[in-house]
Amino acid sequence: MYDVAIIGLGPAGATAARLLDARFKVIAIDRKSGAEGSSRKPCGGLLAPDAQKALSKFNLTLPKDVLVDPQIFAVKTVDTGGNLLRYYPRFYMNLDRHKFDMWLISLIPPHVEIARDAICTDIQKTGDFYKITYIRDCTKYEIEARFVVGADGANSAVRKRLFPKREMPRYLAIQSWFKEKHQTPFYSCVFDAEITDSYCWSISKDGFFILGGAFPKRDGKRRFALLKEKLHRSGFTFGEAVKTEACLVAMPRGIRDFCPGRGGAFLIGEAAGFISPSSLEGISYAMNSAHMLAATLNSESKNPARRYRVKTIPLRIKLTLKHLKAPFMYNRVLRGIVMRLGIKSIKIAEQAQNVGV
Ligand SMILES: Cc1cc2nc3c(=O)[nH]c(=O)nc-3n(C[C@H](O)[C@H](O)[C@H](O)COP(=O)(O)OP(=O)(O)OC[C@H]3O[C@@H](n4cnc5c(N)ncnc54)[C@H](O)[C@@H]3O)c2cc1C
Repeated sequence: MYDVAIIGLGPAGATAARLLDARFKVIAIDRKSGAEGSSRKPCGGLLAPDAQKALSKFNLTLPKDVLVDPQIFAVKTVDTGGNLLRYYPRFYMNLDRHKFDMWLISLIPPHVEIARDAICTDIQKTGDFYKITYIRDCTKYEIEARFVVGADGANSAVRKRLFPKREMPRYLAIQSWFKEKHQTPFYSCVFDAEITDSYCWSISKDGFFILGGAFPKRDGKRRFALLKEKLHRSGFTFGEAVKTEACLVAMPRGIRDFCPGRGGAFLIGEAAGFISPSSLEGISYAMNSAHMLAATLNSESKNPARRYRVKTIPLRIKLTLKHLKAPFMYNRVLRGIVMRLGIKSIKIAEQAQNVGV
């Protein structure tokens, strides 16, 4: 019997586990073990300024071995349909996402019980409690908890089981890693209406070149292959292929897609739909929503679900406002106007532009 069971130890779950009061008996269940070959989150691993701000709010200092080489300060933006190319300044930190997750887990205090390499398979409400089933080392465990926290990402089992009517739109994210062949490492952001109505990206990281994109679930593989082919034709170079990874990514379309929870069941991070629909930046929302939930539970509120819902209003408004920005990224005509006018873009010296459109 636990007070709180957290399902998932990404940035959301690890932050909640770190911030919950020691008076709670907490268990955190995650399928990652940290061992070579165990589950890893496919991610660009870019820490946006909002996420950096969240770390500063927690007074956390980032160890340097979480960073990768190089740090890049401009994003090359390509609109293939309009044959447009622009550079925009960006102040992301380039990270090893797996090391970042493991570092956040390492900060969880010892009074939290961690079940690693464990897959949560079922959650049921039984009276005032939640019965949680998980499998670890081929053994089935059943536990009960007063509160359950779904921090299990875009494909959240907690959301599916406890809020089956609150399905949210999701895209298929695919990333391939290649040996880096470009002379100058770079980030890129690619818009191509034939490939996706979301966007694609590339990131140079520690000698690898990562190409990724978010695609409608149907036909994702074909679209990804077409992306690679088109970019190859326009000058991107792909070295030896190392690995391909894929997962679902939440694509909230509006306020109705956010689901903070009800009763004693809460959702944080991407499981709740807290991810930017325009840039797919999700780490800051994961950490901030986890902080809001921990503060709610620590306050011993009589109606924690209501309190957490109220606390997340600014976050939900911010994400909804991001929707207003989306047409300027995803509508061909509006994007074309913004890029042609060069709004907020920068000029890059000739020698850095080693890839054309
Ligand atoms: C390809 C891609 C690139 C991205 N790039 C960026 C980026 O550069 N910057 C950025 O800010 N955001 C990025 N995002 C978004 C960001 O990765 C997520 O929004 C963020 O990780 C959400 O954090 P979370 O803790 O809510 O969920 P997650 O990070 O998804 O963590 C969920 C955790 O739950 C565990 N889990 C899931 N199901 C179960 C289960 N049944 N049992 C046990 N454990 C379970 C998983 O192992 C995982 O550890 C990207 C997303 C994708 C898909």
